[in-house]
Amino acid sequence: MEIETNALTLFITALRNLIGGLRDAKEMLPDGKAKQEIEAKIEETDSARIEAEINLAQAWGYPICRKTFPPEVMLKEGDDPETGGERFRCPKCGDVHPKPFPKLDYPSPLIGY
Ligand SMILES: [Zn+2]
Repeated sequence: MEIETNALTLFITALRNLIGGLRDAKEMLPDGKAKQEIEAKIEETDSARIEAEINLAQAWGYPICRKTFPPEVMLKEGDDPETGGERFRCPKCGDVHPKPFPKLDYPSPLIGY
């Protein structure tokens, strides 16, 4: 599995670079049908690339932030002091996973009985 995911990572990175290069090259084309067709192919390919990235991230156990589209892979920022597990943060919106426990600013009604 490790070799497969490594190969996938390399492939996705190469694909991302290729898509970037195609976007730059497309700008040199005159406006018209050919340019529109290439734009559509680039966007279709980039959607597949994003889906592959999300699938790979999920296979590795990364949480996914769905506040943006395309969804964003949340990155580990350290350990969660409340649970002792890992804490992840969305690089786009700053959302945290897992969500911190809500702090009670009043005494629990269950204490004292
Ligand atoms: Zn987010």
